[in-house]
Amino acid sequence: MENNRPGVLIVDDLPSNRRMLARSLSTLEVEPFEAGSGEEALAIVEREPQLFVALLDVRMPGMDGYALAESIRRVPKAASLPIIFISAHEPDAYQPYRAYDSGAVDYLSKPVSPRVLLSKVRVFLDLYHQRRELETVVQQLAAVNEALSQQTLRLETTAEVMHRITSILDVDALLTRILSLIRERFGYTFAGIWMIREEDGEEDASVVLRAGQYGTPTPVPEPNAAIRLDAPRSIIARVCRTGTSYLSNHAQQDAVFLPTDRLPDIRAELTLPLRVGTTRLGALDIQSESPDAFSDADVTVLTILADQIAIAIRNARLYAEVRRLNEGLESEVIARTEELESAYRHLELLDRNKSDFITVVSHELRTPLTLIHGFSQMLRSDPVIAEDELRNKEVEGIVNGAHRLHTIVNSMLDVVKIDHRTLHLNCSTLSVDSLVEVLRSRLAPALDERRITLTTQGLADLPEIEADPDALTKVFNELLTNAIKYTPDGGSIAVEGRDMTEEQEGGDRYIEIIVRDSGVGIDPQALEMIFTKFYRTGEVTLHSSGRTKFKGGGPGLGLTVARGIVEAHGGRIWAESAGHDETALPGSAFHVVLPLIVPPSAL
Ligand code: ADP
Repeated sequence: MENNRPGVLIVDDLPSNRRMLARSLSTLEVEPFEAGSGEEALAIVEREPQLFVALLDVRMPGMDGYALAESIRRVPKAASLPIIFISAHEPDAYQPYRAYDSGAVDYLSKPVSPRVLLSKVRVFLDLYHQRRELETVVQQLAAVNEALSQQTLRLETTAEVMHRITSILDVDALLTRILSLIRERFGYTFAGIWMIREEDGEEDASVVLRAGQYGTPTPVPEPNAAIRLDAPRSIIARVCRTGTSYLSNHAQQDAVFLPTDRLPDIRAELTLPLRVGTTRLGALDIQSESPDAFSDADVTVLTILADQIAIAIRNARLYAEVRRLNEGLESEVIARTEELESAYRHLELLDRNKSDFITVVSHELRTPLTLIHGFSQMLRSDPVIAEDELRNKEVEGIVNGAHRLHTIVNSMLDVVKIDHRTLHLNCSTLSVDSLVEVLRSRLAPALDERRITLTTQGLADLPEIEADPDALTKVFNELLTNAIKYTPDGGSIAVEGRDMTEEQEGGDRYIEIIVRDSGVGIDPQALEMIFTKFYRTGEVTLHSSGRTKFKGGGPGLGLTVARGIVEAHGGRIWAESAGHDETALPGSAFHVVLPLIVPPSAL
């Protein structure tokens, strides 16, 4: 019997009628199922799934056509089977309402025309074919959907694992989480990560279980389980050794597969190498109790995961390394900062001591100095001493010494005022040109003695400025005296003036005065330090005491006072020099920039 052909159910109590109907349909690719009674027909309906139409004789002994149609409707798989009634020709024998009520879709009157029957049955056959096609498509779709949702699950797990890989930097936490994800989502029995132990030598290299997960009831594998790297029977050792993956879908028959007591029912094992570039780190090992557990799609997805896990392990190791280095660096920085802070505190203390020393010394010296000064003046005007040339010279020495000491004490007092910000300026309008001219005549004897020429340039063109004449005289006296002191005999000093007011686009207006000499110059490292109190270059004990002698020493306060005064005016002072050289004589230049009007904040 041809079981796959669509079936027609033909029910009639007369065999000749049934045969006639079956014959009419012989040109169709259908299987006729004949029944002589309602009971026989119902048995066929229950048995044959491929019926697509039923032809029922209305009048039959026992169960008639209507009763049979109602019974067929109650068979679940035939509930929608199309039914065509074949009625007798006497009109009252056919009751169309009853026929439709019992589920008929059509009816034919006897004698049945074979052509009409054929065309009606063909319509239902076409419908049947269409429905079957549709069912096939639906089944295919369902299969595709199933595959897709499997793939989605795999990809979701992959994505989740990758997300964790990037968000967890603690290697152990990361590995444990990844393994439980792989095991739970894919439903494997065991997932483990094995690492090649770095500290072992080539000879006894081994592979150690770094993290692993069985399912329940044995959730945790033996800690630190190890396999020798050269073990002949172990898929894990082999993958770690060769760096290539190994799939055993029928593990029990695999000679390399090494069974363990803890997992006696393993049937499949997939082991993937963990590598970054050419460096082998270990292996990702997955085992299942189902044979053929790993499809091609599984292998593809798990290989991607293994690659990501390897990178994550490498990154986590690097991160741990960097963190260790950072911690080292941080403590180093803290230690150095503490050292610097304590050195700074020490320097502050020294500076305060210096200030205190200056305050005490200058105040203590002032009174006796005034006495010496007064008495030496009296001695000088004594007629007896005036007549004695030797005594006169001695008294002159005392007067000069007292005068020089007086200047030093005054400088110290100035420094004290600058340190305490109590330097008061008595400003008036003055011309720098005339100020320098006064100093030129005051220093003329020294310039003559040392054969040093002093030239000026542009000073006469400078605008007048608001400044304290005495204070500013101290500044330029200091600069010119230093220029004489640090320039050998026969040298030159030039004072240049420059009006900067043109360069100013707005705000305060300034002039610049530069005192240049052709002297020994200043070491670049000392250019700033010479402005700190008591700073002197060279050997202190070798300094001669002359005010304007070549390299004549001083207390190292002059430039400190000069800077204090210039800054009190709201200006700036700095030194420039190519270096210190007593033979080449590179010279020095001291720049003073002063505002035309002293800004209120400076006063
Ligand atoms: P001092 O009273 O010793 O001259 P200063 O404060 O005036 O102290 O100068 C500090 C140091 O700056 C000097 O000891 C000197 O070494 C250096 N100095 C100052 N002016 C000049 C200059 N024109 N040429 C070279 N060195 C200079």
